[in-house]
Amino acid sequence: MISTPPKHAAIIGAGLTGLTLAISLHRQGISCMIYELRQPTVATSGALMLSPNALRILDTLGLYERLYRQGYNFETLEFKNHEQVTTDKYYLGEEKLYRYKALRIYRQSLLTQLRAEVTKLEIPITYGVKFSHVISEDDNGVNFAFFDGIHATADILVGADGIHSTVRKYIGPDVVPRYSGFVAITCALQRNKLTYPANVSAKDYPMPVAIHGKNGAFVMAPQNTDGSEVLAGTQRAYPEQDRAGWDALLGDRKSLLQLFRQGYESWPTIVQSALDNVPLDTLAIWPYYVVPRLESWFSTNSRVIILGDAAHAIPPTAGQGASQGFEDAFTLAALLPCITTKLPLDKALTEWKNMRQQRIDKVIKLTMQLNNARLPEAEREKLAASGADVWQSGDSGELGWLYNADVEKEVLAYVKAETKPSPHTCPIDWLMSKMSATKPETVAP
Ligand SMILES: Cc1cc2nc3c(=O)[nH]c(=O)nc-3n(C[C@H](O)[C@H](O)[C@H](O)COP(=O)(O)OP(=O)(O)OC[C@H]3O[C@@H](n4cnc5c(N)ncnc54)[C@H](O)[C@@H]3O)c2cc1C
Repeated sequence: MISTPPKHAAIIGAGLTGLTLAISLHRQGISCMIYELRQPTVATSGALMLSPNALRILDTLGLYERLYRQGYNFETLEFKNHEQVTTDKYYLGEEKLYRYKALRIYRQSLLTQLRAEVTKLEIPITYGVKFSHVISEDDNGVNFAFFDGIHATADILVGADGIHSTVRKYIGPDVVPRYSGFVAITCALQRNKLTYPANVSAKDYPMPVAIHGKNGAFVMAPQNTDGSEVLAGTQRAYPEQDRAGWDALLGDRKSLLQLFRQGYESWPTIVQSALDNVPLDTLAIWPYYVVPRLESWFSTNSRVIILGDAAHAIPPTAGQGASQGFEDAFTLAALLPCITTKLPLDKALTEWKNMRQQRIDKVIKLTMQLNNARLPEAEREKLAASGADVWQSGDSGELGWLYNADVEKEVLAYVKAETKPSPHTCPIDWLMSKMSATKPETVAP
């Protein structure tokens, strides 16, 4: 049983979750070392949507001020039908209700800022090393190995190594990420290439927008500071490929463009104009894989832990993948200094996993409601009539449970409840406290 806080952590993976964990651990006085497979010179493409729950954490870590200036700040994603009528406005952020607007930011900008903070805090990162396996874990710590033969030790080893996690193999050897059957195809294009509906100016057309037509949904979302560049994308059913197969699809730009343009005639003009102006070099694919619900996120001896996509890669519709990784990292760092004999590590991690899983489950439910809302109108109506959950937004904070949650406070409330002194748990302590509280009686001479 581990009943003292770990002093030194090893983190596998310098992605969004791993870097956030390192900064959060430093804030809690726990030292760490990060090991990352890729070199820092490898550029990462694409942009991410960050909602208030993620931004609150980045703000607490002192990063929000730098970040919000580097991306596109907005509030809602507008849902439109084929006739360009707005059917819903989904809040991804809002200052009055949720304290922050949503932020769309290039992944590379976010990684650069997180890395700069890690460097400023003098947290060591070793790049170009590939974690291989756990050798052993015991009362003294965990030993682990890299593919180049190097071994290392730490009090705890945290796998933030993404959806195809190697660390996860030690905790759940049979877990395999599941392909959803769908692939997202996206490109980045200049907003001024779009043709807007008659009588609507570019300035008045809402962005980001999800247009629902016969072919499903087509999303357009500004992604640079002034919103002049938009991501445009849709999803298609596509058979699963191995790595070489996905690379081949990505490499064959002509076929990919054809796939992207499938059903062209059925889209409204604005979507057609996007499909007419695809810069081939920006075409990208994103096969949706999910990690099935795991029994545990830590090893039997509690010294190996996984989080972020390694523990729960979720479908993308609610834009919460990275945000949930931030929450995992931030809450784990808050919990670790609180380990005592009253709250040993295995017990604390069990509750932490339960708390985190409950939120992930709610995000998955929200994702399904949103997916239902994106179906063609006829199918949506059928679903609603059958009592299925279909998302419909209001404007009074329906997403407060997600965006306003103070996840660190919730963890600390749990710790307080578990560690508060109880007069009946230890009879001797209780008796002693009673005796010292009773004034000795004055004995008459
Ligand atoms: C195209 C796309 C768009 C997305 N859009 C959004 C969005 O809008 N909003 C949102 O919240 N989420 C979004 N997501 C999801 C989000 O990107 C992920 O949830 C998030 O990146 C997970 O971060 P992570 O650090 O847990 O894993 P990763 O980002 O996968 O990082 C894992 C790191 O571990 C390293 N690694 C892997 N194996 C090893 C090893 N054996 N040894 C050492 N290092 C290793 C990898 O090189 C990598 O750096 C999107 C994802 C994609 C692909």
